[in-house]
Amino acid sequence: MPKKIVINDASEEFLRKIIELSGEVITLCDQCGTCSGGCPFVEEMDITPSQLMRKVQLGQQDVLESKTMWLCATCNTCTVRCPRGLDLSKVAEGLRQVVLRQAIDNLDLNNYPKEEIKELPQIAIIAAIRKLTS
Ligand code: SF4
Ligand code: SF4
Repeated sequence: MPKKIVINDASEEFLRKIIELSGEVITLCDQCGTCSGGCPFVEEMDITPSQLMRKVQLGQQDVLESKTMWLCATCNTCTVRCPRGLDLSKVAEGLRQVVLRQAIDNLDLNNYPKEEIKELPQIAIIAAIRKLTS
């Protein structure tokens, strides 16, 4: 059964917060789907970039449980194609900030074998720590 759409103070507040954090006028998104069609990582995502935008528009905080915002690689393919000029990577970053500000990390290097970590380029490790930990 489709999820019931509920707009209340909490959902409006959530939308306002993500608009403030991202600097993007998320309400402009008209759900054309162009971002999802061109995203190189969409196959790995549990919700598409345009679904992520819709959830934020509706203030649905369960979007924070999605892995899409963590998988967004800020490649900006969607940004250059979006007919509304929206930068979806900034929206994904805003969502990550909400989680990270609660000191909830999305990466624990202790879960990876030391030998594997040694093989990784240091710059990749630093970038991952910056993006995925608080
Ligand atoms: S391309 Fe832009 S307007 Fe279209 S769904 Fe994606 S974010 Fe919304
Ligand atoms: S910026 Fe993120 S959402 Fe947009 S195309 Fe790249 S990976 Fe996909």
